[in-house]
Amino acid sequence: MNPTQNEHYPPVVMPSLDQQVVLTGQKALVTGASSGIGKQVAIALGHAGADVVVNYVTDPDKAEEAVQEIQRRCGIRAMAIQADVAKEDEVQAMFRTMIKEFGTLHILVNNAGLQKDAPFEKMTLAQWHRVIEVNLTGQFLCAREAVREFKRRGVVPEISCAAGKIICMSSVHDTIPWAGHVNYAASKGGVMLMMKSIAQEVAPWRIRVNAISPGAIRTPINMAAWGTPEAYGELMKLVPYKRIGEPEDIGRAAVWLASDYSDYINGSCLYVDGGMTLYPGFDTGG
Ligand code: NAD
Repeated sequence: MNPTQNEHYPPVVMPSLDQQVVLTGQKALVTGASSGIGKQVAIALGHAGADVVVNYVTDPDKAEEAVQEIQRRCGIRAMAIQADVAKEDEVQAMFRTMIKEFGTLHILVNNAGLQKDAPFEKMTLAQWHRVIEVNLTGQFLCAREAVREFKRRGVVPEISCAAGKIICMSSVHDTIPWAGHVNYAASKGGVMLMMKSIAQEVAPWRIRVNAISPGAIRTPINMAAWGTPEAYGELMKLVPYKRIGEPEDIGRAAVWLASDYSDYINGSCLYVDGGMTLYPGFDTGG
């Protein structure tokens, strides 16, 4: 059956241009949300009115702090759920808990990620596997559970034009090769084509799948690149806009991609990078 002929897929009613970007009534899950980009994305979604699940893997205190902060600042419902996104049983249990507590899920932000850097010839198989299984397999496992729930529920027009939205946190290194980080660049390159292929497959169910590719964002994952004035100066050679990105820059982009304001955006990648992908080495004409 063509899903668009199903009664669950009514005509799209777009928000009018005088309406604010809102996510009221929507339920969001952000993976790796106890720190960095994920935490700010969760706060931004909360400010837009969504109830939020903060996924974390190792630090329950930090996750609880994030939950308290989101509830205090945004006045919405938030809860923390532990799961290693690379483990199928833990991911499935996390979605079961969320759906039991929140009723459903409208927005998944596949944010959890890590680096295990090494010169290529010294990179161990364990370093290779862990980065691929968290950054790529983890996004696959969470996206699959989300799509199952979106298809089960279908579109509820009072809530959103789409049955669901998935935002994959990629990186400028889905495009820019990265010496010393072969596992990380391979994982993010994989995220890019996985995102586009899922988007192509599930679009008829009005499920939108997009990516955000951050450049250099001020978080713990890359403190070595901005933690001292010297390091910051070197970093700025790679950023035409001459400032480091803040996690809030990604939060704003995520809210827009999750909202009906971007309803016709599907299978796209938004580079939020101050121009890092503009080949800054050529800024004087090459
Ligand atoms: P971060 O280290 O603060 O956040 C990563 C989060 O993922 C942490 O909370 C960590 O606990 C969590 N995590 C790691 N393994 C996990 C697992 N197995 N299961 C569940 N959670 C797990 O760093 P960040 O910069 O906020 O990174 C967030 C995302 O943004 C990552 O996917 C990263 O690759 C991407 N990114 C960051 C930058 C940057 O400059 N900071 C640039 C490009 C892309």
